Amino acid sequence: MARLSYKPGDFDLVVRRSKTGLGLFTESEIPKGACIIEYTGVEITPEQEEKTNSKYLFEIHSRKTIDGSPRWNTARYINHSCRPNCEPNIHKGRAFIHAKRRIKPGEELNYDYGENYFKEYLKDICACAKCRPENGPRKNAAKKVAAKRPAKKKAKRKAA
Ligand SMILES: [Zn+2]
Repeated sequence: MARLSYKPGDFDLVVRRSKTGLGLFTESEIPKGACIIEYTGVEITPEQEEKTNSKYLFEIHSRKTIDGSPRWNTARYINHSCRPNCEPNIHKGRAFIHAKRRIKPGEELNYDYGENYFKEYLKDICACAKCRPENGPRKNAAKKVAAKRPAKKKAKRKAA
């Protein structure tokens, strides 16, 4: 793939109701590899991180975490999927969401929040085909992993 750009393109994105609450959808076609949006927020200290109940923590690297809960962070509406059409990438201490494939108008945007985050918050609500309740065996597998997780490690979204 060509070198990634870190300047979000001019795509028409809308917040709408999705299967798991609100989600972020595109009204524009987005080419594969395009920079869609920056995941913005407020940088927090390790002390604040321990105390917060925010579910919008995004780990930029081991010493930098941003809390993306402010509403102006439109990227917070992007839901998790295990089979995502987007992916986060870190560039110069900031997080950007890129298209993993061509995305058609009307599609909901999603990316993989990462293993810890998934085990902590999402294992029972993930709406992707892989995790839906009717898909029994995989759901049970996810539960088993969750039961084994070490106690008390704060879950954060993470770029792969
Ligand atoms: Zn899933």
